[in-house]
Amino acid sequence: MTKTHNLGFPRLGENRELKFALERYWRGEIDHSILHATAAELRQRHWKLQANSGLDLIPVGDFSYYDQVLDTSIMLGVIPERFGSSINLDTYFRMARGRANDGVPFRACEMTKWFDTNYHYLVPEVAADQQFELSSTKLFDETRELQVLGYQPKPVLLGPLTWLWLAKTTGDFNKLDLLERLLPAYSNILQRLAYQDVEWVQIDEPILVLDLPNAWRNAFELVYNRLQSCPVKILLATYFGELGEHASLTCKLPVAGLHVDLVRAPEQLTAVLDNFPNHKILSLGLIDGRNIWRTDLNAALATVSVVRERFKGELWLAPSCSLLHVPIDLELEKDLEPTIKSWLAFARQKLTELEVLRLAIEEPEAAEPELAASAAAIRARRESGLTHNPAVQTRLSTINDSLTQRQNPFPVRQEQQRAKLNLPAYPTTTIGSFPQTPEIRKARADFKRGLISEADYIRQMEQTIEFCVREQEDLGLDVLVHGEAERNDMVEYFGEQLDGFLFTANGWVQSYGSRCVKPPIIYGDVSRPTPMTIRWSRYAQSLTAKPMKGMLTGPVTLLNWSFVRDDQPRATTAYQLALALRDEVTDLEHAGIPVIQIDEAAFREGLPPRQSRWHDYLDWAVRAFRICSSGVKDSTQIHTHMCYSEFNDIITAIAELDADVITIETSRSNMELLDAFIDFNYPNEIGPGVYDIHSPNVPTTQDMIALLKIAGERIEPDKLWVNPDCGLKTRQWQDVKPSLANMTAAAHTLRSST
Ligand code: GLN
Ligand code: ZN
Repeated sequence: MTKTHNLGFPRLGENRELKFALERYWRGEIDHSILHATAAELRQRHWKLQANSGLDLIPVGDFSYYDQVLDTSIMLGVIPERFGSSINLDTYFRMARGRANDGVPFRACEMTKWFDTNYHYLVPEVAADQQFELSSTKLFDETRELQVLGYQPKPVLLGPLTWLWLAKTTGDFNKLDLLERLLPAYSNILQRLAYQDVEWVQIDEPILVLDLPNAWRNAFELVYNRLQSCPVKILLATYFGELGEHASLTCKLPVAGLHVDLVRAPEQLTAVLDNFPNHKILSLGLIDGRNIWRTDLNAALATVSVVRERFKGELWLAPSCSLLHVPIDLELEKDLEPTIKSWLAFARQKLTELEVLRLAIEEPEAAEPELAASAAAIRARRESGLTHNPAVQTRLSTINDSLTQRQNPFPVRQEQQRAKLNLPAYPTTTIGSFPQTPEIRKARADFKRGLISEADYIRQMEQTIEFCVREQEDLGLDVLVHGEAERNDMVEYFGEQLDGFLFTANGWVQSYGSRCVKPPIIYGDVSRPTPMTIRWSRYAQSLTAKPMKGMLTGPVTLLNWSFVRDDQPRATTAYQLALALRDEVTDLEHAGIPVIQIDEAAFREGLPPRQSRWHDYLDWAVRAFRICSSGVKDSTQIHTHMCYSEFNDIITAIAELDADVITIETSRSNMELLDAFIDFNYPNEIGPGVYDIHSPNVPTTQDMIALLKIAGERIEPDKLWVNPDCGLKTRQWQDVKPSLANMTAAAHTLRSST
């Protein structure tokens, strides 16, 4: 008997129903009963869809109004004091987003990326005297809801060690000391599920694919020995990578089953089979839960055969991880190029693939037509002319070290740039975008729908650019930008103009809470048919004598925020992107743009879970950036921008990018993250953000002078730039203007005092 199951399903709905219901609730347009009804309807729809696909066990508990990590914290009764002690839906939203529907502001919990995905979870906050108390019945209620429908539930629970690992501590103590108090709460949950006749519980412990300190490794035995006494069967789920040196330990844990990710880490199979006992259940993650390509079912079956030769126990089949990270249904895409569409599978199609696999194992003959179709699709994709572009291939083969080097080292360039740009000390600039007003959005939408002519559209954009340039001149900024009014999104804007990219109409993936992204699909060789940004930057420069900064999204960020083809190494795709962007960089230079910023907002996000693989990633990611940025003269100044705060572990790679100037996020952390740059003695110029653009507050001149003074103690003042944390597109002119005026005033004060 081979069973099929799923680790989690996207929860917002195929038309993002939950997103819209949440946002209406937050605006006070609907009450909680309507929100609850929408949620219940979505859960049932998704359960039925999964059951109709043929799954034996249906996940429950993967639904969330905002985030499953926050749900776990609430279930355990872990609520920071500032939110009060009563727990209800509004407390939940205050923790998640800083306010419920009553407008009263709270400091929300911190949010950060879920492993190496673009999903964000809310960071649990634990204190040394933390108590744990079962404080929510959500999981039990939803389990009952599913049982009433007659399906076999598999509640999904974030494991105690992963939950704790992700938590931040208030005060200085060892989080592991909390285990003794935490485990009874988990036992309690499992007991209650057992009372509800639940047979299987999936406990997610994805930290088993990370490098772990010994104390944490050892804690696994303790925890699962303890939970063993609960009268449910535990399926321990690991995903996003390889168990590596934890393989033997993990296989021996006293749980009833283990799920392993064989898409991300197929090579771990041998180690698992070497250690896995026949009396347990082995769940094979064979369908990619992180990407949208159709599975090579024959290859997956070959893996099953390898397993079968050595493992005699019960086998389960599943996607590699929760399907949260892929869009719901390919069938909704009516306008996709049909050939490429036939290469794809979204969540729903992936579950169908799973059933074909099961059929192929149980009744090979019955599955033959499906397997033949799978093989044909895989072959068609491999042989398709659509993915190959000989010119790109030829150019790739010419990449050599000289393509990754500026003409001279930074000190030489710095001198030339200073001579050319003639900037004051503490030069001021912004990160690129200015407020996206309703008029700007309307102009873009009208143009897209054909309601206004191209000439009209260009005129409107040029007017916006002119307005933006004049504002910046009035504010006294030193390096200006054109404002990015023409861009809907920093990835989509470039993807739409590059060959090799494809966009879906409805391929939404949850990023956090009600926020979704629609990642483009890179299906083929990437090239740039025509310049992408030159007309706007050139026009902007024509309006002013101040230096204009050209603005591009970097190759690594375009890659990390897309669904990337899996038929060649990611590095190869990154190099193709880099070559295409390199041409844009040199075209900007030829158009008279003296400063060019290459945004790498997602550079860090691509770091693999295991440190042993960082080197490889950083190596090609840095190389891609340098290919993109090195085609210019010494006197052209290259900026990069990274809007996040953890640099300590990758600072060497950041320096190797060899950008002349890097702007980073620091204002919230009070310049703490500059520490990485000092310890390392970062060689080039730095703009630590002094204006927190994620808040509608107007920073005062004094605040910003104070931040710059702290920065000046750590970094030589002649290397310092003055700028906001990130782009201003989500802000309003009414707060941007006074904020930037205060910022330039801060720079003036520092100039006159030195
Ligand atoms: N240039 C982009 C902007 O200003 C950068 C955005 C980002 O880093 N996320 O909007
Ligand atoms: Zn940013």
